[in-house]
Amino acid sequence: MKLFTVGPVEMNEEIKAVGGQQVPYFRTEDFSKLMLEADEMLRGFMNAGEEAKSIYLTASGTGALEATVMNCLTCKDKVIVINGGTFGHRFSDLCNVYGIKHTDIVLDFGEQLTEKHFRNLFMEEYTALLVNIDETSTGQLYDIEIISKFCKKHNLLLIVDAISSFLCDQYDMKKYGIDATIISSQKGLCIAPGLSIVVLSEKMINERVSKNQVRSMYFDFKDYLENFKRGQTPFTPCVGICLQMYKALAMIKEKGLENHLAYIDNVAKDFRNKVVKIKGISVPKYALSNAITPIIFDRDVATKVFEALKDEYEITVNPTGGAMKERILRVAHIGDTKLKDNDILICAISKVLKSLK
Ligand SMILES: *Cc1c(COP(=O)(O)O)cnc(C)c1O
Repeated sequence: MKLFTVGPVEMNEEIKAVGGQQVPYFRTEDFSKLMLEADEMLRGFMNAGEEAKSIYLTASGTGALEATVMNCLTCKDKVIVINGGTFGHRFSDLCNVYGIKHTDIVLDFGEQLTEKHFRNLFMEEYTALLVNIDETSTGQLYDIEIISKFCKKHNLLLIVDAISSFLCDQYDMKKYGIDATIISSQKGLCIAPGLSIVVLSEKMINERVSKNQVRSMYFDFKDYLENFKRGQTPFTPCVGICLQMYKALAMIKEKGLENHLAYIDNVAKDFRNKVVKIKGISVPKYALSNAITPIIFDRDVATKVFEALKDEYEITVNPTGGAMKERILRVAHIGDTKLKDNDILICAISKVLKSLK
């Protein structure tokens, strides 16, 4: 079975080899050192700066989104949520759970986020903005320039879910004044699920995290910050996945981040150029993340294509929920996915579509 899915992704052999090893005991100097080294690489790749600090959570991505809302915001905040799909909607739901007032910028299907979406907001009310920089459900990569400029101008805290974008697209916390970045192991990092990470700016730590009274023990960031000074977490982490993270980051460091990103960019563009040549398939017009391409069918065949790829070709792609369920499938370009895999997938999709006539 070959995965063209985002989270879990088709993992590289080197990562799978780490996954097959005995998980070590972790309250040791060796494990602390490995975590501190991994953290140095991770913060480097997002240009987080020396003062930024990371929280290593054993949780899925949503756990980290929720923990970020709990630790970085309070019910006195009023926030803007870019709600352009499933994951934007999740931020909105989280604000409701924690009684945080919010205004959502809701995007219709196919609509690109632009400066005009920000024009009619009464700015004096807002304190923060929440965005999933790659809204994985639609593949739209929002323009960080526009969002960052807006947040700087109005002095808003900027909280970015980069779960499917970090290590797939360019990402820079310092340049864009990002105060919290949320990532998760099974997406951009291309390792097993279970580890999620929140990287906090100095401003976020000083103004929010260190002051907020969080009604949770497991998700109180203060404890994580204190423990990570020595490369440890307050509770047992997903030790095996931490080792995979170290390996994944070290491999990117060796290759060079720019080369790593250029490789994915090339695979994504190659797929997009080829897939639109199949009759009855198009791709969205808005800006796309390198991580994933939604393919849009001109008739209701998505479930049938999904099933046929799985059963007849041993290929799994991402289905898409919601109103467009029968029209869209999504194809990931990360992990162990090469140009020749694109050709195999495209050939399989063409054959399946022909057989459906
Ligand atoms: C996958 C994903 C999440 C989190 O999903 P989990 O299933 O909780 O890991 C959040 N945001 C984005 C943008 C994602 O792609």
